[in-house]
Amino acid sequence: MSHRTKEELAKQADEIWSGIAGRVLTPKERMAIPSQEMPTQEPEVRCRNMLEVATGFTEAQARVEASRCLQCKNAPCIKDCPVAINIPGFIAEVAAGNFDAAASVILRTSILPAICGRVCPQETQCQMNCTVGKAKKDVNQGVGIGRLERFVADWKRERGTPDLPVVKPATGKKVAVVGSGPAGITVAADVRREGHDVTMFEAFHKTGGVLVYGIPEFRLPKAIVQKEIDALVAMGVKVETNFVVGRTRKLKDLLAKDGFDAVFIGSGAGLPKFMNIEGENLVGVFAANEYLTRANLMKAYDLDQSQTPYYAAKRVAVLGGGNVAMDAARMALRLGAEEVHLFYRRTELEMPARIEEVAHAKEEGVRFHTLRNASRILGDEQGRVRALVCLKYELGEPDASGRRSPVEIKGSEYEVPIDAVVVAIGNDSNPLIPATTQGLAVNKRGNIVTDADGKTSLDAVYAGGDIVLGAATVILAMGEGRKAAAAINTYLAR
Ligand code: FAD
Ligand code: SF4
Ligand code: SF4
Repeated sequence: MSHRTKEELAKQADEIWSGIAGRVLTPKERMAIPSQEMPTQEPEVRCRNMLEVATGFTEAQARVEASRCLQCKNAPCIKDCPVAINIPGFIAEVAAGNFDAAASVILRTSILPAICGRVCPQETQCQMNCTVGKAKKDVNQGVGIGRLERFVADWKRERGTPDLPVVKPATGKKVAVVGSGPAGITVAADVRREGHDVTMFEAFHKTGGVLVYGIPEFRLPKAIVQKEIDALVAMGVKVETNFVVGRTRKLKDLLAKDGFDAVFIGSGAGLPKFMNIEGENLVGVFAANEYLTRANLMKAYDLDQSQTPYYAAKRVAVLGGGNVAMDAARMALRLGAEEVHLFYRRTELEMPARIEEVAHAKEEGVRFHTLRNASRILGDEQGRVRALVCLKYELGEPDASGRRSPVEIKGSEYEVPIDAVVVAIGNDSNPLIPATTQGLAVNKRGNIVTDADGKTSLDAVYAGGDIVLGAATVILAMGEGRKAAAAINTYLAR
């Protein structure tokens, strides 16, 4: 599909809007309105800059897209949103041009709409069972709920600071929140609202978790995340960075010695998995987490300003097929790679990455090699990566995940010249806190075990997000945080 400019898309929406403005539309007329495409920077321009790829809807585009919603009575979209946003409610306000009211509807249940509107995997969540998409037999033709959520959140933010949640009078109770990712942010806000004294401890020098160090600037501008943290601080949440719970202070000491009445652990899944193949310790092999952290958190791409070194490479191989792999591949282009090759053992159909991210990566020039995987990495005399040895695969019988498993084709090895390799095959839970906290139950994958309310095996200790679910999503981490915060508030009110 050829790239349509921001101006072309805006003009098309203006024309449609002038035909429907002020009219009461029938469901048939709503179904006939074309889905409004998200405007983006031109692929050949954006692949060399860090600015946000998607540029956002105009008011007319938002109102046209909102007019596609059928306002279904049973609203399947709400059931598929982990924080149950009143989706038809806010969309009706957008269609009517009441953007402030739309923001109020969303903020009742979600505190991070500008973030979720950008990064939620909508096609497997709220948009998955949208009646419009179902009728058109194409999930991508469903109402663009995330795009509208982003529009509303941006509209509100650009017109000043959103109203802060009301904080109840001080209770004298203290809560420690470990980790400042979406789970920690949600808990800090919900517990602070009840009047408890909240301190958020973060191991890095910056808050935001994966929102800041993992998801790249070109998908989620960091200024947006910072606004959310600023709002927490304005509510009275204290933030301690460079504080590693388990090292700087043991978790149990927070309770026994520092006067905290409850602790929430939202320490995420930041432990990278490796392939365990020959050559993985060569210079020029990175875990995706490290590669992205250098670029995002340490701003390695900013050659004039940043002190962080990055590994200049012309031909970069990325191993994996999820969102992290897409982010790493697209980041490699922005760090100056001439060729980026992505290797995935199954076919594109099985790729866990969002469809939109795969499409964006392809548009930007990432070369996809499906049914292929690295078997060895070869180095030169200085111990630096010089080539990848790959194997071809075919699909066999479905495995436990229901996906057809990749089967290696014997004797299919071939060599690809490569200067750097980024391994993006997934993350495990951070092991430090369970390893330094006696009696904290974990499952065989190292995830902290909780009950339905987010309570761990220890008294007054709660957990949620990726440390419980394994690597998941922003909105699921928020949903977990919300649940645990409610349980903490009940526990402290007893
Ligand atoms: P995190 O966001 O990981 O935050 C945990 C925080 O705890 C970190 O800041 C960490 O430094 C801190 N911490 C860890 N240990 C300690 C300690 N001992 N003491 C103090 N602090 C500690 N999800 C989506 O929905 N959409 C996407 O497009 C998407 N893209 C992604 C891209 C990448 C590159 C990655 C890595 C993940 C992506 N995800 C995406 C997943 C999503 O970001 C996570 O599911 C989500 O951030 C989990 O939130 P969390 O709060 O549980 O943990
Ligand atoms: Fe959809 Fe995520 Fe928004 Fe819920 S928070 S409505 S899942 S985009
Ligand atoms: Fe609107 Fe789709 Fe939700 Fe129906 S399912 S209310 S059409 S967003």
